[in-house]
Amino acid sequence: MSRYVYDFIKGNKGLKDLLGGKGANLAEMTRMGLPVPPGFTISTDACREYLRTGSMPAGLLDEVAQHLRMVEEKTGRLLGDAHDPLLLSVRSGGKFSMPGMMETILDIGLRDANVVALARHSGDERFAWDSYRRLIQMFGKTVFDVPGDEFETELAAAREAAGVRSDADLTAAQLQDVVGAYKKVFHAHTGREFPQAAHEQLILAIASVFESWNAERAVLYRRQERIPQDLGTAVNVMAMVFGNRGEDSGTGVAFTRDPATGRRGVYGDYLRNAQGEDVVAGIRNTMSLDDLATIDPKAHRQLLSIMERLEQRYRDLCDIEFTIENGKLWMLQTRVGKRTPAAAFVIAGQLVDEGTITLDEALQRVTGEQLVHLMFPSFDTTAAPEPLATGVPASPGAAVGAVVFDSAAAAAATGPVILVRRETNPDDLPGMIAAQGILTSRGGKTSHAAVVARGMGRTCVCGAEDLEIGADFLTVRGQVIHAGDVISVDGTTGHIFAGSVPVRPSPVVRYFEGELSPMGDPLLSAVQRLLAHADHAARLGVHANADTGLDAERARRFGATGVGLCRTEHMFLGDRRVLVERLILADDDAERDAALAALLPLQRADFVELFTAMDGLPVTIRLIDPPLHEFLPPLEELTARVARAEALGEDPGRDSAVLTAVRRMHEANPMLGLRGVRLGLVVPGLFAMQVRAIAEAAAVRVAAGGDPHPEIMIPLVGAVQELETVRAEAESVLATVTGTPPIRIGTMIEVPRAALTAGEIAEHADFFSFGTNDLTQMTWGFSRDDVEGAFFGKYLELGIFAASPFETLDTGGVGELVRTAVERGRAAHPGLITGVCGEHGGDPASIHFFHHAGLDYVSCSPFRVPIARLEAGRAAT
Ligand code: ADP
Ligand code: MG
Ligand code: MG
Repeated sequence: MSRYVYDFIKGNKGLKDLLGGKGANLAEMTRMGLPVPPGFTISTDACREYLRTGSMPAGLLDEVAQHLRMVEEKTGRLLGDAHDPLLLSVRSGGKFSMPGMMETILDIGLRDANVVALARHSGDERFAWDSYRRLIQMFGKTVFDVPGDEFETELAAAREAAGVRSDADLTAAQLQDVVGAYKKVFHAHTGREFPQAAHEQLILAIASVFESWNAERAVLYRRQERIPQDLGTAVNVMAMVFGNRGEDSGTGVAFTRDPATGRRGVYGDYLRNAQGEDVVAGIRNTMSLDDLATIDPKAHRQLLSIMERLEQRYRDLCDIEFTIENGKLWMLQTRVGKRTPAAAFVIAGQLVDEGTITLDEALQRVTGEQLVHLMFPSFDTTAAPEPLATGVPASPGAAVGAVVFDSAAAAAATGPVILVRRETNPDDLPGMIAAQGILTSRGGKTSHAAVVARGMGRTCVCGAEDLEIGADFLTVRGQVIHAGDVISVDGTTGHIFAGSVPVRPSPVVRYFEGELSPMGDPLLSAVQRLLAHADHAARLGVHANADTGLDAERARRFGATGVGLCRTEHMFLGDRRVLVERLILADDDAERDAALAALLPLQRADFVELFTAMDGLPVTIRLIDPPLHEFLPPLEELTARVARAEALGEDPGRDSAVLTAVRRMHEANPMLGLRGVRLGLVVPGLFAMQVRAIAEAAAVRVAAGGDPHPEIMIPLVGAVQELETVRAEAESVLATVTGTPPIRIGTMIEVPRAALTAGEIAEHADFFSFGTNDLTQMTWGFSRDDVEGAFFGKYLELGIFAASPFETLDTGGVGELVRTAVERGRAAHPGLITGVCGEHGGDPASIHFFHHAGLDYVSCSPFRVPIARLEAGRAAT
């Protein structure tokens, strides 16, 4: 009875939690009867236990010994045998793939006493010494932390002495000398001889694979990829097969489709007379699978047929590692392969065409995040030079600009700039806003630069460690770049290029805009088809946040079925600012009414435009929300102007009246001050003017044969009495306008109190729209503008947040308020319409939450509408 150890034949691909991805898939291949060397998997349970106690779990070593006997029987060889030894590989493999993060040790079981015997028995002396030197190197590095480059130095010295360029050209005798040199390196660092007991080697290797779970780079990688830290790794122990046994041997990697484009047909690289990582390490030139067909047609045929079976079994693109030993093919690894966002869409479409998966399943094979990547402009890679360096791709996009090294220079620049910093802090904010792109040499996906750039939708590459950043120049691999030099930064790949690389608009966006036809284009037709299916499957509608007719038209082309939020305050800016100033400064009713009367036709015209663009679809208009003093000049500036005028003995004129008003209206915390419905109740006539503009605009459209569906939305309500009062006023205005369609009146739910009293509020509301930006600020008690750059990076790093609550809805707190409000609102008012108009309406994870909370629609920026459509469909399938 095994507690911790499972023979490959016992597992299957469903057991990733227990056996890790690699182990589960080795088991699956073994079950399929594919040629997998015999072996077993030590479960993640054992690893967690080891990491908890610091020693091998009770009984584990006995179990290992027992399963080892099975491997020895199957191979007819014994571990540590002096004549024809069994050699083993010990490989890490957690539930989620963490490429290159943890350890693998090959050729365990070789020692002084059997390396010569192995040479004799295999008839290949060179192979035996090469394997032994690899073991000492990997084992020394992994188990005893011997610096890897000391081994590399010895190997390079041996190549030089022999006058050869490749390790493969070293003779057996030369490799034997390398082994001698390696042992000296090992001894110098560990103070002991290289372990000569094969079983000791095995146990030390298992322990060090367990420990590699907590290696610094592995911890960091998991943090960045949001992989839980407590899963642990499984350990796979399997018989070695040898690709380094001459020209009829070799090792390779292959994909069942092209992981870059999704094109059908197998892709792969093969390296003759090589072992393990040699293929990916790029030390020698590899050959293609087609070349393999000419040198070993039998193995090639078998490989292709296995790849086809794997695709059928996994019903998806698979990548594999294989080895050929003296003409015999062995499978060493497979998994559902990673792919580019474009390939993900293309392959999902192909698999539907091939009858392998349904459209519902195809939706699960792509993500909104992938669609985001496809919707940003990209660099024309055919025209791109070699990258100067590569950092962490923190926020997508393609940015080109002149290098600036400080925030002030960025803010002052007239042309496009790239802000380059070692790392950023809140003082850099103005520069980050002004820059086209942000580049740092330190920090990962949760650094200040990354968090803030993503929040602003700015292109960002961070942690480009090859950059040495000085005060007004940077050096990268010996090349110097001065302030003002142009560079190009690719936030999707992390590449940094010298000079200006041509930017290609996204073909997917051009398709949405109607500029490209999807016909004959595998990517665009897959996008079209999957979005159509998402729309069909979705229960959530997708509306857009749009303030102008142009925005609304664009949103409609991107598939929005309404405007979920029109922010009217944008309509008070620019030339109209003076009118608002007049309204605020009005001393009596007559002055105020005159100001309102001047604003009315302007507002009406805005709405006519919007209703025209969204003809036949709902348009939700929010009455003015921000504090009025936002429309007046800043206090400091005004005070200075008035003081200067007075000092010069001049008349400050209007400025002094404005200053008085600004002083009167000054708020210590405007976010929580006189705004939204409070403003509407305090400034007579303001809301009424807006309601009239909406009603008259609708009547204009109806008279013109249009089909407007206006909805009036009251912001920042916290008490039902606020809504009742405003609603009564609005209804009395509506009653005076003739020829209008029915107009719904609803409220935003963005104050926690509104969510809690949603039952009462719903009795006076036709709809709820959750303003999750404010709701998040008010629930957490922090203001987005002030905190995002200040401490979010730290919070993410400490794991207090899994993601910024402004990017992804905090389901435990804010989400609970949403759920409560929907429930209480619907109970009091069956048929109440519910939607979301905060930033979260375009965020994939949040959309899934809103779907399950039973909302009717989400509303997001026009650009994110396709992403929301896709995710709304995915949530429903
Ligand atoms: P990673 O997860 O980093 O890819 P692997 O565990 O796959 O690490 O192992 C690294 C390399 O060692 C791979 O190229 C693999 O093919 C090779 N390898 C692992 N086990 C064996 C084995 N039993 N025989 C021959 N080569 C092996
Ligand atoms: Mg591998
Ligand atoms: Mg709000």
